[in-house]
Amino acid sequence: MTERLYYQDAYLKEADATVIGIDGDAVMLDRTIFYPEAGGQPGDRGMIGPFRVVDTRKGEDGTPLHIVPGDKPVIGSAYRISLDWEHRYFYMAEHSAQHLVSALLHSLYGIGTVAVHQGESFFTVETDCSHIDEDKLLSVEDAAARAIREGHRIYRREMSHGEAESLHMRRSIKVAGDVMVVFIDGIDAVACGGVHLSSLAEIGEIAYCAQERIRSHVRTIWKCSSSAVAARRQDAAIVSSLCALFSAEPGSLAAEARRTLDECTALRRSMRSILSRLAACEYREAGGSTEEGKAVIFSSDIDISAFEGAVPEDEGRTVLVVSGNRFMLHGSEEDFALFRSGLPSFRIRGGGRGTMFRGSFEGSADELIKEADPLL
Ligand SMILES: [Zn+2]
Repeated sequence: MTERLYYQDAYLKEADATVIGIDGDAVMLDRTIFYPEAGGQPGDRGMIGPFRVVDTRKGEDGTPLHIVPGDKPVIGSAYRISLDWEHRYFYMAEHSAQHLVSALLHSLYGIGTVAVHQGESFFTVETDCSHIDEDKLLSVEDAAARAIREGHRIYRREMSHGEAESLHMRRSIKVAGDVMVVFIDGIDAVACGGVHLSSLAEIGEIAYCAQERIRSHVRTIWKCSSSAVAARRQDAAIVSSLCALFSAEPGSLAAEARRTLDECTALRRSMRSILSRLAACEYREAGGSTEEGKAVIFSSDIDISAFEGAVPEDEGRTVLVVSGNRFMLHGSEEDFALFRSGLPSFRIRGGGRGTMFRGSFEGSADELIKEADPLL
């Protein structure tokens, strides 16, 4: 059985340990400071001597498995083991922040936590509610800021099942026998086998981000510590660059963006109408809508979609318009089949219905027109 030093001192960054077993990439030690992935908190990373531990997982019997890809340490040898402390400390802070948020949701509004997830840029608390007012979540953020300022102590105590039951904790106890209870002094007590900070003050800050619906529950999204700071700075940079783009103050940014979008929509609409009128002109100039003659074939700089309404339904002749590497063909199914099969080197793709066919081709537009002319 591995001695779990992280329970004696969650702040141990280094220790000496002996390798007692290896199974594939999993290395087992007689004692470890590496916390294995559990309860939503990711496993630790670090070094066993010169060998890199990329993750720590829990074996079937709960033994911490240090995942070491590539060269392995030697069974029976002792090594200096060390944590990727920045990684561990952030997740310890995030885990402690999650306890505080869940505790405040429960004590202020009777909202229960059904699941939690810790990620590298945010953590989530899935609640037992189908709806939560945004105001409530903001007031949890305020209460969390107060508790962090007050710097409540966080500590853990192992106790009998009966004693733990008598605490009437916000979450039911899921283990048999003795229970590890994590306390936030004066705020919370909950059964948990994770690693935590020793004071709320170390979290620095907790920021409420958003809520979303999942499995008919509200899942709340939060950031803390360095992830909250990074997000705040990123948001400020985005706002400031948008303010510069729209020449607006932050307070009028949304209205200014709305106004610009509406303007774009109106411009796009008039642009479409101008282009289809232009397309109709080009079509007539190319000889369309006259009594007689052979197929009308021409190229244009206008987007091919503008020609859709330019050719009348009853146009008796075949019309081929080419723009860039796209084409529009007005004619019979036979015309389109002939056009496609007669010019294999252009790899013509596309299709259509009735008398209108659209698609793309490879190669030069001038060449296509030259070779299509005798075909149509
Ligand atoms: Zn915990």
